[in-house]
Amino acid sequence: MICPHCNEPMIVVEYQQTEIDYCFGCQGIWLDQGELELLFQQPEKKLDLSAVTAFDKSKRRCPRCRKKMVKGNFPETTVEVDICRRDGGIWLDQGEILKIAEEHCEEQAFKNIYRFFSELFSDKNEMKEN
Ligand SMILES: [Zn+2]
Ligand SMILES: [Zn+2]
Repeated sequence: MICPHCNEPMIVVEYQQTEIDYCFGCQGIWLDQGELELLFQQPEKKLDLSAVTAFDKSKRRCPRCRKKMVKGNFPETTVEVDICRRDGGIWLDQGEILKIAEEHCEEQAFKNIYRFFSELFSDKNEMKEN
């Protein structure tokens, strides 16, 4: 899959049996519909991202279906995200996953997510230094 921000190929990282598409270049993350609930360890709490009110069109295209995405606030947060209305996927810029997790997750789930993504994001910094 190609990063909607830098148009470079993304890699797949696995977190608790959830496959996350990750861009090393911009540290953005793509999540398909349903993956966020798994990531947040809230499989019963369905997040309907296609129902989010769009306040603007996004310049970015969905990496799955190549249609233009829309901009909206992630439910119950002030975090602006790019959403594909067609397939319910979501694009998160660097660090947005942590802001959303902080507001949505139980403490333990947040700690796990924080640890995982902090390590993932810092990998890149180490590569830069070398
Ligand atoms: Zn990127
Ligand atoms: Zn799409």
